[in-house]
Amino acid sequence: MVPGYHRPAVVKVNLGAIRRNLENEMKHLDPGQKMFAVVKANAYGHGAVEVAKVAEKVGAAGFCVAILDEALQLRRADIVKPILVLGVVSPEYAPVAAVNNISLTVPNLEWLKDAEKYLVKENLQLKIHLGIDSGMGRIGFNEDDEFIAANKFLENNEHFFVEGMFAHFASADSADETYFEHQRDKFNHMKSLLTVKPKWIHVDNTAASIFHSGIKSDLVRFGIGIYGLNPSSNPASPDLDSQIKLEPALSFESELTHVKTIHQGDGVGYGSTFVADEDTIIGTVPVGYADGFIRKFQGFKVKVGDDYCPIVGRICMDQFMVKLPKKMSVGTKVVIISNNPDDPNNIKAAADYVDTIHYEVACLLNDRLPRVYYEK
Ligand SMILES: *Cc1c(COP(=O)(O)O)cnc(C)c1O
Repeated sequence: MVPGYHRPAVVKVNLGAIRRNLENEMKHLDPGQKMFAVVKANAYGHGAVEVAKVAEKVGAAGFCVAILDEALQLRRADIVKPILVLGVVSPEYAPVAAVNNISLTVPNLEWLKDAEKYLVKENLQLKIHLGIDSGMGRIGFNEDDEFIAANKFLENNEHFFVEGMFAHFASADSADETYFEHQRDKFNHMKSLLTVKPKWIHVDNTAASIFHSGIKSDLVRFGIGIYGLNPSSNPASPDLDSQIKLEPALSFESELTHVKTIHQGDGVGYGSTFVADEDTIIGTVPVGYADGFIRKFQGFKVKVGDDYCPIVGRICMDQFMVKLPKKMSVGTKVVIISNNPDDPNNIKAAADYVDTIHYEVACLLNDRLPRVYYEK
């Protein structure tokens, strides 16, 4: 999608907040522990290159992304520190990763054997992190025999440099630690089977780092915390308290493009789900589900000028309507999502409203919305 530079709708990102969140995490690390900044999915919608540059300045030892193209984007932006791709990359792209000094995740033994064929052909060495499935059920080794065989395969294998070994927690954001402990024990067991010596053994995501103490890990894969959001967003349990201060960085802003009064019996939007029962002032905002602001937000209150106003009628592809308490002028500022956690339209409240997590709300805001950066 082309970015809409000629429409008043932007995602604003406070790089000052991002910097302070990163600095707070750096201070929170164990002695000798490193931080990899997780900037996958365009830095959770905040802008991968801009966030990575801040993280680099603050002292991140490297970066994590989800797909190979995201790693290449950082390399093209002159980021030289280590980059780990967390997802499975097809073995045929192992040479592309090797040439660009990008580290890949090994999901199983078969992947290693396939990747080796491509690396042999071009006489290349690839940096790898062994993925362990300690209970996430996603990717990585979960059987002893296969993991032992993979270690054997890697011993004295000049086409691979074993840079890391890692697992991912499924419930580090939950107050109930039973499954977390089960995963930790399984990981420690797999670790005991190692015969190759990875440089970095790592398990912490944001939640593990800011809620749990005493996990031995060489580096923290710090993701959602960069953006100032508390990963404990399980609606079934109350928010766990973060051990570090987090400041949300993202706000989503627009303006009224049209204001009018409708009369008794007049409908608003597709299907006329809102029908006026008296004279009603309606404002139009030039944002819709094609920007990632999904239809489920119907009824959510956004801030127009100084008033919180409900979205009435169905959200259209490119526009939505709000019910205004008084006549307002075209151009009045609309804060759809606020970066102030005390505002009722903060991102956590928005996520709760549509029954999801703030990670998803932020990621859905797509590239039709230009990112505007400021430092405060
Ligand atoms: C996304 C991801 C992270 C970062 O998680 P946050 O909850 O955002 O801190 C860390 N590790 C892996 C494997 C991931 O996929």
